[in-house]
Amino acid sequence: MAKSKRSAKIKCPRCGLLGWIQVKKIGNKEYVYVVHYEKGKRSYCYLGPKAYTYVTRTHLKEGLILRGLADNERAIAYLDALISYLERNPLSPEIAESLTNKLELLARGLREYARRGETKKRANQGA
Ligand SMILES: [Zn+2]
Repeated sequence: MAKSKRSAKIKCPRCGLLGWIQVKKIGNKEYVYVVHYEKGKRSYCYLGPKAYTYVTRTHLKEGLILRGLADNERAIAYLDALISYLERNPLSPEIAESLTNKLELLARGLREYARRGETKKRANQGA
């Protein structure tokens, strides 16, 4: 923890509590945390390497936490954040229509992909 900077108070995208963005420099890499103070105790929520969290900060309103490449469940987390954002922020009818078309296309593709995966799994099990 060689270097740290304190920002304005924000709502933590991980736990929802108020805290401060803190950048910690470890070696030549920078990592972003939200620092919380409660009853004199300090706790940290890790947001990720600075490259991701810089973008994340610009998407805090949408509740998006960009995740590293190793995180297999990030598509679900992104979609959950988007759903939550859409529930809180109504869209224009044109954007709603456009988004609906894209999501229907995506849903069809995913269903097909999942179905093929199931068929393959059953074939491998010899059923
Ligand atoms: Zn937190």
